[in-house]
Amino acid sequence: MQVDSDRLVPLGRMALRHALGAILLLAAACASDPVDLRITGDTSSSTTTEAAAETSIPAAAPPLTIAPWSGHRMALSWTFDDGDPSHLGMVIPLLGSLGIPGTFYPTCSEMEPDLDEWVAIGAAGFHEIANHTMTHVEADGSTDTAEIADCHDYLVETVGVDVSTFAYPAGTLDEPYLGYATDNYVAARASWAFVTIVRSSTAPDWSAVPSVFVGDVADDVSAEERIEWPIRAITDTDTEAGWLTLTFHSVGTSRRYGSVSTEEFERVIAHSDQYDVWHGTFADVASYHRGRLAVLGALPERTETDGWVWSWEVPNGMTSIPLLATVESGELLQQGRVVERDAAGRFLVNPSLGELGWQP
Ligand SMILES: [Zn+2]
Repeated sequence: MQVDSDRLVPLGRMALRHALGAILLLAAACASDPVDLRITGDTSSSTTTEAAAETSIPAAAPPLTIAPWSGHRMALSWTFDDGDPSHLGMVIPLLGSLGIPGTFYPTCSEMEPDLDEWVAIGAAGFHEIANHTMTHVEADGSTDTAEIADCHDYLVETVGVDVSTFAYPAGTLDEPYLGYATDNYVAARASWAFVTIVRSSTAPDWSAVPSVFVGDVADDVSAEERIEWPIRAITDTDTEAGWLTLTFHSVGTSRRYGSVSTEEFERVIAHSDQYDVWHGTFADVASYHRGRLAVLGALPERTETDGWVWSWEVPNGMTSIPLLATVESGELLQQGRVVERDAAGRFLVNPSLGELGWQP
């Protein structure tokens, strides 16, 4: 009883299906046996309901899978705090040459001298620039959100970027930032935690995603330890097939805090190179993981004309990083259009649209 829809132009299929449904409904009103209204014979079909005859939509949603970490075994996010001069001078050119996007949390009030450079980096769209407050005031439990809200406005209006994430100054997790970040961003980066690896099957607290601080972030950290910690964390993340966020401050300089040498930084990058890693900005990996869990956790609804539909809530700041989705048969649709596929045949689903349809 299938309409031979494979021969149709995909974008026209939904419109045709609507028209076909209307014709069938009209015919059904005059017919004594709606089963006879099938377009082609199909004696193997056991469906006899009128709705099934009209739409050929199966009674169960097709199994939908979405590859974790954009199809890689693990994800790594490289984040850099406080706008240290080494970021513009060395880190961004180095990461760019390696094809690794970084996430940068400059202190907004200190961006002015290098504003042209930050604007250009933001406009290029490869790296992420996000909120680390206006003057690096630590959270203190107060209610005045000016530090985080003013930095957000500065990044949007003056630097010209979309802001998707936040990093707590000094890793202090408290108001007034906690509520603002929860309401406005897809994720906020915390600091040390007992468990620092995010697994593909579980959601972290999106307002406090853990990260590993790299460098001489404590007085008793030896040169060996400060580089062995992130290296071991990367190895563990491969074992867990999870997501790790690394936090750097000074690289190759010692302006402030958390210094690592250029050689140490390059050694960490080289260590990651032996694994199947998705290097993604904090915003993109958060959006991918959050979007993937949201879609897979959504209860699909059957519609009489369009097939099956999944709907989910889209948090502020979620990017359109495509989810790599697979179904056994049929087509996935968003905003009434058939979703494009990658070279491997996986549908590229936009998590920021909040809705996904399926048709046979
Ligand atoms: Zn900082």
